[in-house]
Amino acid sequence: MDKIYGIDLGTTNSCISVLKDGKPYTIPVDGNGIVPSVVSLDGENLLVGRSAWNRAAAFPEQSVRSVKRLMGTAEKLKLGKKSYDPEDISAMILRYLCDEAKKIEGGDIDKVVITVPAYFSDAQRRATIEAGKRAGLTVERIINEPTAAALFYDQVKISSPDAAPVPGKTPWQHVLVYDLGGGTFDVSVLRMGEIIEVMASTGDTRLGGDDFDRRIVTRILRQIKEKDGLDLEDYVPALARLGAVAEKVKITLSESAATRVSEAHIPTPKKKTCSVSMEFSREDLEEMTDDLVERTITSVEKAMDEAKLTPDKIDRVLLVGGMTRMPIVAARLERIFGAARMPVVDPDLSVANGAAIQGGIISGANCEQILVDVTPHTLSLEVLSDRDEDYLETLICAPIIPRNTQIPATRARTFHSIIHNQDMVLLNVYQGESTDPNENTLIGGTKLKLAKADAGCPIVVEYSYDLNGIVHLVAEQKGYSRKTEIRIDSRNPETSQDLSEIEEGEENEADDFEEEAKAVNFVTQRARSLIEATTDKDKQKLLTDALKRYEKALNDDDDDIDDIEDELLALIEENAEEN
Ligand code: ADP
Ligand code: MG
Repeated sequence: MDKIYGIDLGTTNSCISVLKDGKPYTIPVDGNGIVPSVVSLDGENLLVGRSAWNRAAAFPEQSVRSVKRLMGTAEKLKLGKKSYDPEDISAMILRYLCDEAKKIEGGDIDKVVITVPAYFSDAQRRATIEAGKRAGLTVERIINEPTAAALFYDQVKISSPDAAPVPGKTPWQHVLVYDLGGGTFDVSVLRMGEIIEVMASTGDTRLGGDDFDRRIVTRILRQIKEKDGLDLEDYVPALARLGAVAEKVKITLSESAATRVSEAHIPTPKKKTCSVSMEFSREDLEEMTDDLVERTITSVEKAMDEAKLTPDKIDRVLLVGGMTRMPIVAARLERIFGAARMPVVDPDLSVANGAAIQGGIISGANCEQILVDVTPHTLSLEVLSDRDEDYLETLICAPIIPRNTQIPATRARTFHSIIHNQDMVLLNVYQGESTDPNENTLIGGTKLKLAKADAGCPIVVEYSYDLNGIVHLVAEQKGYSRKTEIRIDSRNPETSQDLSEIEEGEENEADDFEEEAKAVNFVTQRARSLIEATTDKDKQKLLTDALKRYEKALNDDDDDIDDIEDELLALIEENAEEN
């Protein structure tokens, strides 16, 4: 029997998969298999996929994107002189996927399973079948996207000693599929059994990655307005260009803690072009889009309500859609469901892979389990908490790579120096789920010597974790070229020798240095917190003066530093007792 291919015909991206040796495999069309659902006219030629996407930023008027929104309507789309049905545009995307897949795989592609959102009406489903026909394909079946995702996850075996229980072996009854794509958000609750039943399905057809991009665009537009006095809010060529820039910022911030936008030659309605250069941090993005994430959570609650289930009755939460790569999304869901119920596998490919499994089931193929490697423990960095009342004394573990993240993985976070001219930071890497370092395992560490800077100077710390359990840490003081790197074997922490890249013979000196720096930090922070806490003006002044003398002595490498420190410590003791 012919192979039946699985196609995720998405609003923003599409994807084609097929079973190979019993395992679903995404065909790397356009490089990585994630094919933009975009058609663009270039002179006489119709481009589809990545090349169309590239053109669409410069020629939005000659391009069609998000045609899926129009499926089942009678709307016409103009490209050049011709006008097309939504089915025609979707057919071009399907044709492109199959032609390109054929070039890579060989053989013919004739039979397909296509996925659609659970909420798609009959008319929308019929239009999808019609698109398949116009592409010259036999549509064997239309299945729901969340169902496809669940089929795929059902085959996934998480490979980690103490990760979530193994799906497939554990009967998991209720599955919540959270699908945040480019322009739509769907959430479904499924009951798994002989057949997979959709118990509830809701969402927002006007909420997706584009909204996140738009928030970034708004920031950029505001800067252009302040800098050049130009209002580009309604100028389509500039918006299309900045939209692409914003998406890149958003995607970069899923991996990195900060990124810089430097764009020149942005079109304006005047003759002159303009330029922009600005920095975005992950925190900025999370703050700007907090309400969007919360809106999805409201839908999640609604779906559970409709299915008459409470969060504890949900056995698995599956993350689908490119936008779920944004770390805050998973973190937000973890707060409701806990990480153990959230297996992490590729959110871009699971729908197409599930469709390929459905194709396999129809053609009678055997499906095997797929192995996915995840991090068994959370990897965190020891930092001073800024949350507690007497924050300046509490050390906590700030997670950088959460547990159950599919590996290899690279994640970064930004931290800040706490004192003026701080000369170093300690970078202690912990493994474990607690926020209290004492309850976790210290697997290694190093230090980063800092260039002189004001307090609050950003320090980006990046962890990479590979399939062999090796943690690679890179820390950088932003804006200064201070950087340090270290490799730790998390499975064999004792054997990690290169703890701080200390040159031979310097080890003890470095240890002393670390201890000293730690002590200095504590003394200064303690003094500061007391200055803030005390209401007595005289005492405040005494402490402030002593702290200033201490910092100056540190700075000048004063011989009397010990005496000055004792003086400050005495004052601290005295005041702490009273407070
Ligand atoms: P759809 O199902 O609507 O076709 P996708 O599931 O392909 O959409 O999701 C596309 C969205 O995911 C886009 O907004 C894209 O910018 C976003 N996206 C892709 N990768 C990432 C990432 N690493 N971090 C954040 N967003 C991402
Ligand atoms: Mg999708």
